[in-house]
Amino acid sequence: MDVQYKIIVGLEIHVHLATRTKMFCGCELAYGEQANTRTCPVCIGMPGVLPVMNKQAYEYSVLTALALNCEIALFTKWDRKSYYYPDLPKNYQISQYDLPMSRNGFIEIPLSDGTTKRVGIIRAHLEEDAGKNTHTLGDFSAVDLNRAGTPLLEIVTEPDMNSPEEVCALAQELQRIVRFLGVSEGDMQKGHMRFEPNVNLHITHSGQVFKTPISEIKNLNSFRSIERSVAFEVTRQLDEFLETGITMQMGNKRTYGWDDVNQCTFLQREKEEAHDYRYFPDPDLVPVEISQEWLTEIKSRMCELPLAMQKRFATEYGLSDYDASVLTVDRDTAELFNATVKNGSDAKRVCNLLTQTGLKLARERGSTVAGLGIDSDRLAKLAQMADSGDVSATAASTILEEMIQSDKSPDAIAKEKNLIQKSDTGQIEALVDEVIAANPQAVQDWRSGGKKSKKARGFLLGQVMQKSKGQANPQIVNQIFDKKL
Ligand code: ZN
Ligand code: MN
Repeated sequence: MDVQYKIIVGLEIHVHLATRTKMFCGCELAYGEQANTRTCPVCIGMPGVLPVMNKQAYEYSVLTALALNCEIALFTKWDRKSYYYPDLPKNYQISQYDLPMSRNGFIEIPLSDGTTKRVGIIRAHLEEDAGKNTHTLGDFSAVDLNRAGTPLLEIVTEPDMNSPEEVCALAQELQRIVRFLGVSEGDMQKGHMRFEPNVNLHITHSGQVFKTPISEIKNLNSFRSIERSVAFEVTRQLDEFLETGITMQMGNKRTYGWDDVNQCTFLQREKEEAHDYRYFPDPDLVPVEISQEWLTEIKSRMCELPLAMQKRFATEYGLSDYDASVLTVDRDTAELFNATVKNGSDAKRVCNLLTQTGLKLARERGSTVAGLGIDSDRLAKLAQMADSGDVSATAASTILEEMIQSDKSPDAIAKEKNLIQKSDTGQIEALVDEVIAANPQAVQDWRSGGKKSKKARGFLLGQVMQKSKGQANPQIVNQIFDKKL
């Protein structure tokens, strides 16, 4: 059957902001604390309390919206979104309905072929998170309200993504941005970022275009589940269309969950209930008005964004796009690289140290590369030692590994571990003479210039390295051989 299709995906994203306290009360934000120990009358929804807006949360939202190229509303208000659920004791969530704090932006996402794609942002608004229900007590469910009232930035994109990879790329880019801005830790495992893809297909069949019903996949909190669940929905929707011919009708958006064990989506709600959230302005909160001075002040906190920095590293220092992306995964690592090369170190050398040994060590320790605790001065010194041939590339890697465990300088470590390469020409020349005298056949092969020459060269070089116990600078050994033979 002649069937072609286009994948259409939009995302709804919730990001926890890394403020010290909650959105409308003074309770501390905490993860993994004993249940219901970070609560007060405001966030457990007692009657008669008054919420007060967290100014920092608002500023973090504006900064993020600016990074997403959104228009910032100078006047916004708060609305009550009513629904009943045990983890929401007030029976309404404070959110922003018709006047979101920002809208009409876009995010540039890097694709695997080195190009970028622009995805529209419909709106971003600020709200509060609900608590958490757990169902581990047999016949009972438990409610933990520590999370209730956490500042939550909701971001809604245009349905501009056309593959599971693009959805994943957007999620990763957004994580990089919020981390660079310092507005969220963006830790997926802790639920700092939750993603809800809306997926459907535009199928061309017998010259006609059919749209499949939209599936909303709820609450994804890993990049892998984002990519796999979207890919699964694509196959499932295509199969369903071919079997039943089902197409989109008004209001037949369906809600799916993701089963991580069986790697499939499962239907949660057949028909989106005609939600009546009864939005109305919250009478307890004053509207937010942003003055030009305040906006200018927030704008002044903007930093160079990760994708711009990645592109700059690639062009300015001739790094591969991949290396530049590894260096800009988080701001501290990017700044470490930036500071080291600004001091005049060779960019490729520093890049190799960080993206090879550094990345390996960081993964082992579950930290960022910058989190390994190497400062730019020591890194610059190490790069310079490797450049001048004082230590080999392998030794530099060993030294870097040692540097993260102590405050010692790289030269001290090199001396201690006997890793300094001998560049003393006199000494090396003596070794070369010895080797030449002991291997007349290899010397003849080298000189013959034929096929055997290359092999003989390697052999003789190896002999000298062996005699020097690996400490001769191979560049200098080569130079002496070239002079003599
Ligand atoms: Zn509270
Ligand atoms: Mn929301």
